[in-house]
Amino acid sequence: MKIDLEGKRALVAGVADANGFGFAIGKTLAEAGASVCIGTWPPALGILETLLRRGKLDDARRFSSGKLFEFERIYPLDAAYDRLEDVPQELRDNKRYLERGDFTIGGLAERLTRDFGPKPLDIVVHSLANGPEVQKPLIETSRAGYLGAISTSAYSLVSMVQRLGPLLRPGGSVLSLTYLASQRVIAGYGGGMSSAKAALEADTRVLAYEAGRRWGIRVNTLSAGPYASRAASVTGIIERIIAYYSKNSPLPEALTPEEVANAALFLVSPLATGITAATIYVDKGYHAMGKAED
Ligand code: NAD
Repeated sequence: MKIDLEGKRALVAGVADANGFGFAIGKTLAEAGASVCIGTWPPALGILETLLRRGKLDDARRFSSGKLFEFERIYPLDAAYDRLEDVPQELRDNKRYLERGDFTIGGLAERLTRDFGPKPLDIVVHSLANGPEVQKPLIETSRAGYLGAISTSAYSLVSMVQRLGPLLRPGGSVLSLTYLASQRVIAGYGGGMSSAKAALEADTRVLAYEAGRRWGIRVNTLSAGPYASRAASVTGIIERIIAYYSKNSPLPEALTPEEVANAALFLVSPLATGITAATIYVDKGYHAMGKAED
């Protein structure tokens, strides 16, 4: 059975280079036929535009057919904000934000509707996280750092379902990315990011119920194993975690973004209409382990 997303449109929030899960998921959805718009954090947007203009991402964008993965639109998106009036003036005046228009989640919903009409979407992928104090143990995390992690990494999903849910056509679905640190202690994944992922998983269940009843859409989260994306490298421990997983997982090979993207493709496709409110592990089986052989 082939997954065909011809005629579907996806919004992938959290793409700023060709390295992360968001890029891999967008590319896979596009290869399956979907039109893909992306949302990019304004501080990273200028660099992404330059890389694209200079052709630096062409190799990563190439499908097996030789064609390139094209973004239908690139929207500026700061997922820490829901409405422009909530954004501090200082940030609005920052040169990376100044001429980007409404970069909030509410602004994104308006732009999508303006660009494509009242029901422009079939798929929303939330592939973003930010914990300003991720390198600090939870016990040393400030209130501002903790709330910042929860705001950008977890509440942003609530806000996106609230504002983009009504834009989804029947059969639509929302998918986010989470990490096992929500359920088990992962030393070094600090700053309240473990709390943010726990909230994201709990919210996935409640949002699935509420958005399912309201709009008939599905909400799932995919718990990925470790991968050295730009965001993960900020933790300073990603290479050690990858090595640890490879020693202790049922499948020892390093997880690839393509494996995560293939699972994402299935989850947002019509093959998965029975799956909602789920946390699906794509981590080479590591989540099941207590003690490995050696
Ligand atoms: P990534 O760097 O490709 O993606 C993170 C994105 O978040 C970046 O594009 C960044 O610009 C964006 N971002 C940061 N703050 C933002 C804001 N305020 N508004 C909008 N965008 C913002 O890294 P990734 O590892 O692919 O992360 C994608 C998702 O996968 C995240 O939710 C992450 O927690 C999750 N995840 C990653 C791993 C891993 O090991 N890489 C494992 C499990 C889950």
